[in-house]
Amino acid sequence: MAGSGRTLGARVLVALVAAGPLSRTELGERLGLSAATTTRTVRPLLEAGKVAERPPQEQTGPGRPTRTLAVVEDCATFLGVKLTADRLYAVLTSPVGAVLEQEAVPLERTDPEAVVALVASVAASLGARRGRMPDTIGISLGAAVAGDSVVKVAAFLGWRDVPLAELVSAATGVACTVANDVRAFAYAEAWFGVGRGADPFALVTLGEGIGCGLVVGGEVVSGAHGAAGSIGHLPVAVPEGPTGSLHASSPGATDIRCEVGHVGCARAVASTSGITRAVASRLGRELTMAEVLDPRTARQSEVREILRTAARAAGRLVGSLVAFLDPALTVVSGEGVAVLQAHRDVFEAEVARLRHWSASPAAVQLRPFEFEEWARGAAALAVDRWADLVGAR
Ligand SMILES: [Zn+2]
Repeated sequence: MAGSGRTLGARVLVALVAAGPLSRTELGERLGLSAATTTRTVRPLLEAGKVAERPPQEQTGPGRPTRTLAVVEDCATFLGVKLTADRLYAVLTSPVGAVLEQEAVPLERTDPEAVVALVASVAASLGARRGRMPDTIGISLGAAVAGDSVVKVAAFLGWRDVPLAELVSAATGVACTVANDVRAFAYAEAWFGVGRGADPFALVTLGEGIGCGLVVGGEVVSGAHGAAGSIGHLPVAVPEGPTGSLHASSPGATDIRCEVGHVGCARAVASTSGITRAVASRLGRELTMAEVLDPRTARQSEVREILRTAARAAGRLVGSLVAFLDPALTVVSGEGVAVLQAHRDVFEAEVARLRHWSASPAAVQLRPFEFEEWARGAAALAVDRWADLVGAR
């Protein structure tokens, strides 16, 4: 994401996407611009048909009713793509995140050439339904991404240093931007989703990975090295019992470690792979996450204890985050949110337990997991890129 280095035109577009419609005065105040600068910045966007003036709304207070400015909803379309190990989820959206079309296709091959070809074919087919190619493309995946374009390491695809944005742009003729999926999802929730108007806003994702996106003043916090929100290896479970087992009520339990050897970090205890490994070691057979959550399995006392440990660990993570940031809203999503829904009492008790005695209760929302929502996160990246391109004209 371009952040504060962007042009005034781009900042106006992003403000109208994230908070619009706004009056000229509200827009100027939000961006810290004088009335003259606001007018001068908005004029070319009005002329280009990207922004329109709306008639005054019903009078709600004293004074002259004011016209508002809004992004023109059909002036552009955006393709958002979320890549997983076996599937590509795509949505086509308007500038304000309305989903116009969507599609999910299996990834039969995961080499960059095949994935780029698939993105290009989805762009063409969804574009054809609307009679135009998307204006920009955003791609999100669970990986470290450099400069909104190069996938540094995506272990689930076996990729290293893949210039994905460049390859997709070359294949489609459309500008493309790439980002870590949690960051992209945080933008989408802050701009078009439940996080709209909540500042600071925090998004915690629980799944195969565990991550967090923090949105402060409308921008996702990157940190000095792009690693802000890397909460996956924080210690969240305190070993209990004589053998140091995390699941003290089941004697003989094996300690589950994360891939780098921590006992009791968030990934070890609360990631989907941590949970399924704990269940396998306890029951002596491999189960998928869906099988673990099946009521017949989830009711068994050993499994129930593992799930409650995971819910408590997630509560510790969210409670700590709330203590550090005091978000106006924290949303928890991802495949693992089903565990919290089933053991909400444990999760909420832990969040409440970590709260400072004088702090207001934390607003925490559990959001059912849908891959299309993640694809919409990728579309937010595409909107952001478009704002930079249009705003620079
Ligand atoms: Zn770890």
